[in-house]
Amino acid sequence: MPASKHSKKNLSCKRENGYEKFSPAEAKKMEEISKSYMEFLGASKTEREAHDEAVKLLSAAGYRNLEDVIREGAQLKPGDKLYRSCSGKTLLALLIGKKPLEEGLHIIGGHTDAPRLDLKQNPLYENGELALLDTHYYGGIKKYQWVTIPLALHGVFVKPDGEKITVSIGEKEDEPVFYISDLLPHLGQDQAKKSLSEGITGEDLDIIAGSRPARDKNRKERIKYGVLELLAEKYGVTEADFMSAELEAVPAGKPREVGLDRSLIAGYGHDDRICAYAGLKALLDLDKIPEYAACVLLCDKEEIGSMGATGMQSNFFENTMSELCALQTGAAGELAVKRAMSRSRMLSADVNAAFDPLYPSVSEKKNAALINHGTCITKYTGARGKSQSSDASAEFAAEVRRIFDAGKVAWQTGELGKVDQGGGGTIAMEMARYGMDVIDCGVPLLSMHAPWELAAKFDFYMTWKGFLAFLTDARKQR
Ligand code: MN
Ligand code: MN
Repeated sequence: MPASKHSKKNLSCKRENGYEKFSPAEAKKMEEISKSYMEFLGASKTEREAHDEAVKLLSAAGYRNLEDVIREGAQLKPGDKLYRSCSGKTLLALLIGKKPLEEGLHIIGGHTDAPRLDLKQNPLYENGELALLDTHYYGGIKKYQWVTIPLALHGVFVKPDGEKITVSIGEKEDEPVFYISDLLPHLGQDQAKKSLSEGITGEDLDIIAGSRPARDKNRKERIKYGVLELLAEKYGVTEADFMSAELEAVPAGKPREVGLDRSLIAGYGHDDRICAYAGLKALLDLDKIPEYAACVLLCDKEEIGSMGATGMQSNFFENTMSELCALQTGAAGELAVKRAMSRSRMLSADVNAAFDPLYPSVSEKKNAALINHGTCITKYTGARGKSQSSDASAEFAAEVRRIFDAGKVAWQTGELGKVDQGGGGTIAMEMARYGMDVIDCGVPLLSMHAPWELAAKFDFYMTWKGFLAFLTDARKQR
């Protein structure tokens, strides 16, 4: 729009707290969906649990497992609702639009894995009259944050015959929790001289799992044996079964509202279950068949570089698109798949760092996301001169602006920290590889990757609203 069409006062771009223009009706809706998110987050302490919770919600809304549809060989038609699981960890959900898949999809892609402490494959040992579980941390953590807090243990044991035993200990009020010790200040003089990153090391993060000796006095290491007896009793497992287990120690407990005004939520795993849920909820809230297929991806392994069969560097998405295109057109064709992917548009739904008044020096304030300023669009991530970044095009950034403005979405732009302060990445580049337009967009957080992260209800609400507007956008794609 030429400048002449603006009045003079409109020339500058003003940043404004979202509550300045927030109707009571919307505030009510925000409380509603924040409550539903807190329930989802409280029940989704691991990527497997987030996957299962999402499948529950999708199934209740009439979404069908793609594997069943493939077996039936039925042709896909507009309005069909599908999901596909990748090893019970990564999940793709799709609502077929009016246009063929070949014309592209609208994709919201978030991740459901979060930093945590994984048990090693041979974790259990006894020392100093205590039974301990050795861990190897997953994702980027500040190790000192994980000691002296209640931890819960979630995951699976899988027996050689394929039997899968699901474990969850420490979430219910009457269940015990786990705990990592730290030095008392009285004896912590040497530790206090170390840097924050060395004060507690990765190998220091061993979890106390028990202290009572087994009754049988003939056993060696009776405290360790006592723990094995309890595990055998409750789950029917032996020490060797740790070898084929995935057990994750995570902060115990449910998300909580924060502040006298209850405007914030503290929870474990906001990164990135808050964006994953906002995307899933937006998909479930579509009340009409969209022009373009609406797709939501809940990915695993983002926090360790999207590697592996369930990470976005795998061919899961591409393979699934091949199945879908074949089901829609009745013929297997590579070209339709490539067109579908390269004509798609995606919001890489991930969190960003909000400006923290206690640590202003790491941010460049006018380009840092602010709490309660709405969903945050991040054109590029990366580090050291945008290295490893999927830098979105100005054209696509403009499209997203148009969609969000038309949808009355409060949004802001934000970079992760000031130049050369550090950096990070998302799944954006894994998907941009197919030639689709991708831009990062999500909720700004305080204390990202801490056991308890902080998000604002308003920013979550606007992220959901933005995702809804994006999935329903009908404009012709390139
Ligand atoms: Mn993330
Ligand atoms: Mn992260």
